[in-house]
Amino acid sequence: MALIVQKYGGTSVGSTERIRSVALRVARFHREGYQLVVVVSAMSGETNRLLALAKELSADPNPRELDVIAATGEQVTIGLLAIALQELGLKAKSYTGGQVHVLTDSAFTKARILDIEVAPLRKDLAKGMVVIVAGFQGVDNEGNITTLGRGGSDTSAVALAAALGADECQIYTDVDGVYSTDPRVVPEARRLERVTFEEMLEMASLGSKVLQLRSVEFAGKYKVKLRVLSSFDDPASAATGTLITYEEDDTMEQAIISGIAFTRDEAKISVMGVEDRPGIAYAILGPVADANIEVDIIVQNIGASGRTDLSFTVNRSEYKKALDVLAGETGKGFTAREIIGDNRICKVSLVGIGMRSHVGIAAKMFKALADEGINIQMISTSEIKTSVVIDEKYLELAVRQLHRVFELDQQPHAV
Ligand code: ASP
Ligand code: MG
Repeated sequence: MALIVQKYGGTSVGSTERIRSVALRVARFHREGYQLVVVVSAMSGETNRLLALAKELSADPNPRELDVIAATGEQVTIGLLAIALQELGLKAKSYTGGQVHVLTDSAFTKARILDIEVAPLRKDLAKGMVVIVAGFQGVDNEGNITTLGRGGSDTSAVALAAALGADECQIYTDVDGVYSTDPRVVPEARRLERVTFEEMLEMASLGSKVLQLRSVEFAGKYKVKLRVLSSFDDPASAATGTLITYEEDDTMEQAIISGIAFTRDEAKISVMGVEDRPGIAYAILGPVADANIEVDIIVQNIGASGRTDLSFTVNRSEYKKALDVLAGETGKGFTAREIIGDNRICKVSLVGIGMRSHVGIAAKMFKALADEGINIQMISTSEIKTSVVIDEKYLELAVRQLHRVFELDQQPHAV
């Protein structure tokens, strides 16, 4: 009998009415003969509300206690969904993360799953029961409650699907799949029928918020068949959403470019006229890393007369901190003519598996931007992605232009 893990996010369980609708969908799958494990998030806004309470009492609340608080959100939802399912005549049973021994490390507020005990769940499933598991939470080997980081219920679901060897992991959310880009920016954005795991990984890391990045990594590692769907469709309808595929078992024609991802909250720092010598990148970026600031794109110029320039980007929220770190280091670890920054930039990325086998994609991208008079400040590429850093005021224009030039509003076709 096929086993499906379904995950419902906060908006999908945002009210008792929404929970009833989830129950109707679950009941349909149950009727169709599937075994079901359902993972739920807290009701929408609830995790924020709970964390804000802690912030009222302390500017820097203890992470262990934050997890104790935050984990209650999901505990409410699992009980409510079990009741809604029982009301429909189904057998259903809820479990907290601790009760299914979602064993994690002890990194409170961003714990990682180490193991899940699935034997008791299998017993319930064999009895025809719908098993409901609280997302986002686990327990460390001392019995402390832990949480997996914001959006972590996706990872709970994928981990459960992997541990159970589920036939599919369905992530229900408020959009009906993964889109070629954010439809709020480009109304013509198209839902992708399928997207490869590598592309999804890039898109999740580049700011497409549909899935928690860690859940995508997890799915890739265990080759979990993952599908993103809307919980707002009629529970009786059989929508297909977006399937995340693995290349080796995918014989379908793939689009060259699948999507455009972007992040607004970027900042750029340029260290000008530093000595061009071994160890200079480390002298600059070592202290930045030590301050726990994540660096994204890094560009170093070719040196001239013993001097060079090094530029890098950070999240805008860490811009000031990064500048302070460098100000403290100049004259010590390195000398620079000048340190300049710009926190009005954004990053736009073209993502597509076809970049591996097709030349000229980047050139086409640069021409498209040039045609709109958009200056590219930095460029970074990977095997399946080309990112540019541009002035934030051109973000929408750039995304729309690229979407049009690469014909992402149309069904993929062979070239
Ligand atoms: N409730 C948690 C959050 O808001 C986990 C989740 O929704 O995935 O981050
Ligand atoms: Mg989410």
